[in-house]
Amino acid sequence: MKMLRLLLPMIVGLCPGLGPAWAQSADTILVNGKILTVDAGFTTREAIAIRDGRVAAVGSTVDIRKLAGAATRVIDLQGRTVIPGLIDSHLHAIRAALSFSTEVNWIGASTLTEALGRIREAARTMKPGSWLIVAGGWNVDQFKEKRRPTQAELTAAAPNNPVYVQLGYGWAILNPVGLQALKIASDADLPSGGRLEKDADGKLTGRITGGQAAIIALFDRLPKPTFEQQVDGTQKFFRELNRLGITGVVDPGGNNLAASDYQAVFDVWRSGRLTVRVAYALCGNEPGREFEEFKNLTQLLPMGFGDAMLRFNGLGERITAAMNNNARPSATDKEKYTQIAKWAAERGMSLTMHWGGDASVGQLLDIFESVNKEVPIKNLRWSIAHLNDASEQSLRRMKALGVGWTVQDAMYFGGDQFRQQSGPEAARRVPPVNTGQRIGVAIGAGTDAHRVASYNPFTALQWFQDGKTVSGVAIRGPEETPSRADALRFYTLGSAWFSFDEDKRGSLEVGKLADLAVLSKDYMTVPVEQIGGIESLLTMVDGKVVYAAGPYQ
Ligand SMILES: [Zn+2]
Repeated sequence: MKMLRLLLPMIVGLCPGLGPAWAQSADTILVNGKILTVDAGFTTREAIAIRDGRVAAVGSTVDIRKLAGAATRVIDLQGRTVIPGLIDSHLHAIRAALSFSTEVNWIGASTLTEALGRIREAARTMKPGSWLIVAGGWNVDQFKEKRRPTQAELTAAAPNNPVYVQLGYGWAILNPVGLQALKIASDADLPSGGRLEKDADGKLTGRITGGQAAIIALFDRLPKPTFEQQVDGTQKFFRELNRLGITGVVDPGGNNLAASDYQAVFDVWRSGRLTVRVAYALCGNEPGREFEEFKNLTQLLPMGFGDAMLRFNGLGERITAAMNNNARPSATDKEKYTQIAKWAAERGMSLTMHWGGDASVGQLLDIFESVNKEVPIKNLRWSIAHLNDASEQSLRRMKALGVGWTVQDAMYFGGDQFRQQSGPEAARRVPPVNTGQRIGVAIGAGTDAHRVASYNPFTALQWFQDGKTVSGVAIRGPEETPSRADALRFYTLGSAWFSFDEDKRGSLEVGKLADLAVLSKDYMTVPVEQIGGIESLLTMVDGKVVYAAGPYQ
């Protein structure tokens, strides 16, 4: 059987005078590699040709080389693995991006020394005197030192910048420059409930404790990124995602994300600088007024509005405040939710819904089923996010409704706690992706980053294999551990489904968008514990290079 597949029939059909398609040379070819196409048979090829932003052919190096002309860029993969660009189906990317250039990120730092090094580096690269803010997203257990930073360490790392580091929602530390900038000299200068800690000699340590409200109010006193910084952050965050092989996200809105907060991503999109495809949903923000909000916001925003880079993808992940994280919604709560859901269905809108546990998800599925009786939702790609302990029964109900499931690596951070609360047996099957797949539920992978998780897809892909929490305990059993191929499929084609894109991207097949990543290591054969360290060396979106490192720089 001939391995080379071409766009031949389509192009010849359209342009009878032009002759065979391969007479037109490719823009780029990648040869001598291991291309994981993620097609139906998970076929591996040696080479790929790209023309006009699309996959023109996949096949052997010898055959693909025939498509090269004088102007074709030839990339020698030297045996490296290529995957379709990864798609996170539940990443709060728009919100994370806003502060990416003005915050210091401690995600993935394995020592406190490394974390402090990032503050030192930020002090060097940011404008002199800039605030250096670590706004959560880290944990003492991730550090070899198993402790928090001291004020002296912050000062040593950044003597001339105000520095603020927050841990969870109960603790923060400021260096002296930071305390001065916020005019904090005594407890009276703190939001109510906040307290300044003193050492044995009565000197301030820079540490502040207090309840969640005090720490949130304290954080609110820090300067917000300007619009220029938000735009800069958006470009830098998306480039950071490109560095990890991500070429698409499905964005589920998020808490405190107002309409005005979308302006930065719109600006980057409008000027053609977007390097990650974004399908975004809208959350209800004003408790009790969500229906009016949705009606108002979508008057000029029909489902699917946008283009291949940025597109409106419906409602969620919070529809109403009353039904958010509420396992016992009242009849009124459910009625109001049902009204919105039915309205969305009538407009052909997709809807994604955050739900925690299986014990109460029947309330949501009841609503979906009642809406479905009046307006079929089967083709609207509704979905449930999280639901880590999904039962077989719930998954069957989802399958019957055509409701998909976005799965995140929440158990990487939360698995120890889950195991303590629900027992080791229950922990063996979270999340039950193999059961979901057997039943035929559409499954997408992702992270839920960046406040509660790392956005690194390879952390999640490793976790899919080893089932280990951040403390190193393997909690998941082999019965719910997907193969490497299936995990990759969840992260590409699987996620693409949630924005109606599985025919356009998510696999490297002829005619599809040329979104791909050349990996630093072979995802399929590297020891499991090395998957988390994989990066992209070359990322392409639409056949254009958006990130290049090492040999491709
Ligand atoms: Zn959520």
